Amino acid sequence: MKETIYTIPLMDAFNANDECPFCFIERNLEQHAISFILGSAYMEDDVRMETDKIGFCRHHYKMMFDYGNRLGSALILSTHFHKLNEELQAQIKSFAPSKSSMLKRIKKTTIEPEIRKTNIGAWITEKENDCYVCNHFNDNYNRYLDTFFEMLKNNPEFVEIVKNSKGFCLHHFADVIETAEDKLNDKQKNLYYPMLFKLMEDSMKRLEEEVTWFTAKYDYLNKDKDWGNSRDSVQRCMQKLGGGYPADPVFQSDK
Ligand SMILES: [Zn+2]
Ligand SMILES: [Zn+2]
Repeated sequence: MKETIYTIPLMDAFNANDECPFCFIERNLEQHAISFILGSAYMEDDVRMETDKIGFCRHHYKMMFDYGNRLGSALILSTHFHKLNEELQAQIKSFAPSKSSMLKRIKKTTIEPEIRKTNIGAWITEKENDCYVCNHFNDNYNRYLDTFFEMLKNNPEFVEIVKNSKGFCLHHFADVIETAEDKLNDKQKNLYYPMLFKLMEDSMKRLEEEVTWFTAKYDYLNKDKDWGNSRDSVQRCMQKLGGGYPADPVFQSDK
């Protein structure tokens, strides 16, 4: 199997041996994108044209704010606002209220962002789902998923590393299974599904035990007993269920 630019980072992610190798990759990619954009890339016309058009999501605006380089953010925001204000004007211009009815007015409100009734709602949802950093992650993430299955099929040493890993967070496990459905043939499914399922069941059970022991440690009868692996189990449980690294320090520019 030929090595690609994805092979080594994927190996590194598994060798980090934390609760999810794809969270590890995600963290690297998003930190890379934030330090790229706020490093000096915001001064380049082609990059700025993209950020003007795409913008960022709530999570990544927060990362940009925390990172530092307030002037860099201000410059990005200044031209992004310019673009957005043009679009907002056009959206408001083409907005046409729907016909009111008694039935609609007495119905309880249920907002479903996937089903927008108005052009303004649809436009804002589209803006919220578009993010320069998320896009950078998603492009690479899909290649990492492909590489994961390439390596699983062709590299016995990698299979052993996966078997001895801590599995995936639920969020990324969903994507692993969805990708497996397309990338594995029937024979490979028989071989790798039991392995992947065991990995997940074992790691979920292990975390349940670790975090339960964490609570038991607060009983004075257990106060002299060993913490085992449970001392940092809260953040690892949260990662397993929600993805990401809750205990990470804020990512900041080292300037
Ligand atoms: Zn994950
Ligand atoms: Zn984002």
